[in-house]
Amino acid sequence: MLKKCAKCKKEKDATKFYKSKIHKYNLSPWCIDCQSEFYKKRYWNNREKSLKQSKLYYIANKVKQLKQCKKYRQKNRTLINKRKKENTQKNLNSWIRYFGNKFFYCEICLKKIYYFSGDVSKSVHFDHKQENLSIKRPYSWLTQHYANQNNINIWVKCNFGKLCLLCNRAIPTANRKQWIRKVDDYILKRKRKEE
Ligand SMILES: [Zn+2]
Ligand SMILES: [Zn+2]
Repeated sequence: MLKKCAKCKKEKDATKFYKSKIHKYNLSPWCIDCQSEFYKKRYWNNREKSLKQSKLYYIANKVKQLKQCKKYRQKNRTLINKRKKENTQKNLNSWIRYFGNKFFYCEICLKKIYYFSGDVSKSVHFDHKQENLSIKRPYSWLTQHYANQNNINIWVKCNFGKLCLLCNRAIPTANRKQWIRKVDDYILKRKRKEE
C-alpha cells in the first residue's frame, strides 16, 4: 500500500510511516524521513534556545555576582579602614604608655615640648633628617608599630634629636655645620656694619 506524505507530498510505502492509532489507517501523516527531520530540527532549535537562555542566565548571574563582590569590597574597605584606625590608635596608645606624660625641652631653644600634645607647636619634632637611621618617618613609624621591647630598642637606637617645631623647621637637612658657620658669618658681618 502506498501513502502520500502530508509533508513532502511523496508517495511512499506504508512501511515508511510510523504507526499511529489516532490517524487514518493507523499511520502517521508524515513519512519517517520527514518526521525525523522535524524532530532533529526541533531538537537543535531547542538546544540553541536553551543554550542562549543559560548564557543569558550566566551573564545576568555574573553581573549580580560582580555587584555583590563590589558591595563586599566596599563593606570590607570600611572594615579594613576601621581596623587600620583601631590599630593606629592601639599603637599610639602603647607609645603613650611607654613615653608617659613626659615633656622635654627643645635641644636648641629649650622650649617645653611634649610627646603627644595634640598641638604641633607644643609637640616634639624628631630630628630624623640624619643619615643611616632605621626609622625614616618617626611619627608614622610610631603609628605603625606597637611598643614592644623589640620596637622600643629600634626606637631608642635611633636616638632622635628632640626639637620644637620652629627649630626643626629652621635647620637644614644637609651641611648643617657649614650652614651654621655661614649664619654666624652673616650675623658678624651685620654686626660690624651696625658698629
Ligand atoms: Zn515525507
Ligand atoms: Zn626650639
